[in-house]
Amino acid sequence: MRIDLRSDTVTKPSKGMLEAMQQAKVGDDVYKEDDTVNALEDRLAKMFNKSHALFFPSGTMANQTAIKLHTNPGDQVICDKYAHIFNYEGGGASFNSGVSCKLIDGHRGMFTADQVEAAINPPDFYHSPLTKLVEIENTTNKGGGACWEFNELVKIRKVCDSHHLGFHLDGARFWNAFVAKEETTQDYGNLFDTISVCLSKGLGCPVGSVLIGDESFMKNAIRIRKILGGGMRQVGYLAAAGLYALDHNVEKLKEDHSKAKDIAVTLESLKRVGKVEPVETNIIIFSLNDISQEKSFLETLQSKNIFISSLGQGKLRIVTHLDYTQEMHHVFLNVLRAL
Ligand SMILES: *Cc1c(COP(=O)(O)O)cnc(C)c1O
Repeated sequence: MRIDLRSDTVTKPSKGMLEAMQQAKVGDDVYKEDDTVNALEDRLAKMFNKSHALFFPSGTMANQTAIKLHTNPGDQVICDKYAHIFNYEGGGASFNSGVSCKLIDGHRGMFTADQVEAAINPPDFYHSPLTKLVEIENTTNKGGGACWEFNELVKIRKVCDSHHLGFHLDGARFWNAFVAKEETTQDYGNLFDTISVCLSKGLGCPVGSVLIGDESFMKNAIRIRKILGGGMRQVGYLAAAGLYALDHNVEKLKEDHSKAKDIAVTLESLKRVGKVEPVETNIIIFSLNDISQEKSFLETLQSKNIFISSLGQGKLRIVTHLDYTQEMHHVFLNVLRAL
């Protein structure tokens, strides 16, 4: 039995999901004639109280499109030093939109409204880049699956309003935050100008992300998606997986979260494990007391067919997901205890 805890992207579509995909009504989505894609887009737009939603092949392309919608070349985006758009999108913000990032030194990928205020360049000081957009991640990836306090987001929105800045949510793991907290999709829709959500992380779809926003922001999104090569044809087969996941897999994330907490508790009891970062959702980041032991620790797990990832700088990461079964959980906890 292979136990793969490197990421929540390793899931494969379930039987029910595959059946839903097979039965999808499809058409040419470049002509906007794919009923299933249209249904998925309508559903997500309504969920977030927005007028528009657009299906994308990846979260990266959805975020890159959002950055392009909010900015002109030379502008600046404020984000955390851990942000996916800065660290893990191949330099796309500069490649596609010609913008730079002003990095905030946040805590677990999150920051305060005061830090945003301090990061804004004065718009009439033409020597510095023009600040245009604030981008946050919920949950934070490199921040260990941490969830934002909604109140702080409301304060950041106010700062954005008073400085005429766009506000984008990278919601690759929005659904994890959604089930972990008491907020609603409407609350999020009312707060952000644009929101990207992934269907291929915790929700277990093979592919797909959706960018959501009102017409004022989204009217150019389809053109940018086209330019980035993201126009797709009978893609309802993939959208059907997304609709299925929204019906069946959102609540199941709670199970991933409780397994992650079990793993954290077990790790904390191990002598060779040092710091275990607080676990709020499905990501566990921890370090070993002796960093030089990292390679052998990973190899020991691999010899038992268990795979986790190294984030570098002495940090290790475990991510629970839909295909990590109760049986695997039992085996993994026992392997850890015997280390
Ligand atoms: C996974 C992820 C994305 C999107 O990644 P793709 O692999 O392009 O779908 C964006 N932001 C965060 C925080 C992520 O974890």
